[in-house]
Formats: sequence, structure tokens, C-alpha cells
Amino acid sequence: MDTPAAASLGEFDLIAKYFSRPVRRAVLGVGDDCALLEAPAPGMHWAVSTDMLVEGRHFVAGVAPERLGHKALAVNLSDLAACGATPRAFLLSLALPCADEAFVEPFAAGLLALADRHAIELVGGDTTGGALAICITVIGEVPAGQALLRSGARAGDDLWVSGVLGDARLALEAWRGAAALAADDLAAVQRALELPQPRVALGLALRGVAHAAIDLSDGLAGDLGHVLARSRVGALLDWSALPRSSTLAAQPQPLQQQCVLGGGDDYELLFSAPTSARSGVQKAADRAAVAVSRIGTVQAEAGLRVRWPDDRVSAWAARSFDHFASEG
Ligand code: ADP
Ligand code: MG
Repeated sequence: MDTPAAASLGEFDLIAKYFSRPVRRAVLGVGDDCALLEAPAPGMHWAVSTDMLVEGRHFVAGVAPERLGHKALAVNLSDLAACGATPRAFLLSLALPCADEAFVEPFAAGLLALADRHAIELVGGDTTGGALAICITVIGEVPAGQALLRSGARAGDDLWVSGVLGDARLALEAWRGAAALAADDLAAVQRALELPQPRVALGLALRGVAHAAIDLSDGLAGDLGHVLARSRVGALLDWSALPRSSTLAAQPQPLQQQCVLGGGDDYELLFSAPTSARSGVQKAADRAAVAVSRIGTVQAEAGLRVRWPDDRVSAWAARSFDHFASEG
């Protein structure tokens, strides 16, 4: 088939031009029927995860392609971070409405820049026409028995979170017209939504320190709920300790609650650790150059509770952002 125009390449040209790079750690990368990876050293496990982004569900049409490339890999690296795994290789499956280089070039640039920062290699994938969708599978390594799991939280543990919460959701609410922000505040929360920084170094530093961990993709209350269910415990969160940007802290209280607790797209790490590990957690955070906040306590009694600034404690539904629901 002829190439219709200079700006539109065929499938194989597109792969060759943007997604074929020499591999260093992998034995064989893009171009054959399979990629070949050296098996991990004895005593190591593979850590494997996949995440899909669909236009209209996970991002809005018209988002900058470079940011979309970044985010598609970032959300996957975030899953490796939550397990305390070292990133190794990834596969990229793309559905594109057309082979438009004006889209693919910056998309690949954003994606591969983040890949290089985390020393993770693109070793293969699949490319097809269709409504825009991006599915990435990441492969990492973790010492056997040391992966951070959702099931490890114990009553009496501290609960911790990295970074600040709720800015990504605030950007979504601003886009929906539910919040009005000054231009520079809007730009800052949009960065939080579109350019999340996966906490890989923190996840690695928390191995042997944290009891349980999860990355926050669907909101604090819901994702904490997954940890509580898997660990068969409950929790008390201290509202005043939940880290917020000055932009979010200036919003009305109900919107703050919706963004911080309901949230979505934070891609921070939520983890539990014994109270005896407080200095160990701080050292891990320093090593990873990420701020962490102690936000509550794991309790034996099931359910999620929040302590408000007036000391009142109330139950809070541990509900996640649901991509099948119209409202999150
Ligand atoms: P197959 O016919 O076996 O599915 P393809 O023709 O789809 O193979 O892909 C050819 C090669 O290009 C394979 O090595 C595949 O892993 C790689 N590939 C295809 N699409 C992508 C992509 N979006 N990113 C990286 N590698 C890709
Ligand atoms: Mg294929």
C-alpha cells in the first residue's frame, strides 16, 4: 500500500521510526515476534502489571500528546512503585485513529523521556487503527518475599502518603466547571493531572520498612479501602494531616473533601508502617527526595473513619472512582 502523505506513515514505518530503539538490558527488543529478556537472578520475582488509558474515560480529547505519552507510562510505573519493584521493560499497545505523526512524534517523546529517566526499555507492543487507546504492560523485578502488598497492614500501623493529594481531581473539577481557578493555579493542577511523577524510588526505599502499600489512582478513600479489605482491618484518617496544595486548601471545604478523599489520578503512594519505623520511613522519603505525611492509623475495627478539625469522628465510605459510573 502506498504511503498516502508525508505526514501519515504506515504501521510498520511508524513503529520503526518512533518505537524501535536499541535495547541495552533486553536480549532482543522491537522487531521480531517476541522480545527476549534475560531471566531475573535467582531469588528475584518478576513484577508485572498493565494499565489502559482510553480517550474520554481516562483523558480528554485534545490533551497534549507529549503529556499523554508521559502519563500512559507513569500510571504503569506507579504500579511497580507500589510493589517496590525495579522497572525493567515495557510493552506498548496503541490504537490510533490515524498514523498522524503530529500526534505520534510528541507522544513518543513524552513516553520515552520518562522511560529513560526510569531506565525502563520499550521492547515491543502492538499497533492498530481505532479509537485512541493506549495499553502499556510493565515488567519489573523484586526480591522474592519483599514486594509491598495491599494485604500487609496491621492494626496499630501508621498510615502515610507521599506528595500532596487532590490536585488532579481539582483540575478535573475545573474542567467540568465546578471550580474556578486563577490561570497559574489551573496550570499547576493540570500538571498534577497530566504529568504525574511515579514514586518508584520511594517504593524501592520502603521495601523492608512498610507493611503494605498501594498507589493512589482512584482516590484515597477507595484505594485505602482496598488495603483495608485485603488486610482485614479498618482505619482512622486525620483530616488536618492530609497533605494539600495551597491551591486546593483555598477551595471550599466540600470540594476539598471531594478532591482529597474522593480524588482520583493522584499517583502518590499510600502505605502503612509500624510506629517503630517512623524514622525509617523518613529516611526512605529523604533518600527518594519525596515528602511524606503521616495521615492516620490502622485500626482493628473494620471501616474507614475521619477525624475532623473539631475532633468529631465520622464514618466515611471507602468508595473508589468508578470508570463505569458517570460521576466519580
Ligand atoms: P505481530 O504481527 O507479530 O503482532 P507486529 O507486526 O504487530 O507483530 O509488530 C512488529 C514488531 O513491532 C513486534 O516486535 C512488536 O512487538 C513491535 N511493535 C508493534 N507495535 C509497537 C508499539 N506500539 N511499540 C513498540 N513496539 C511495537
Ligand atoms: Mg501485532
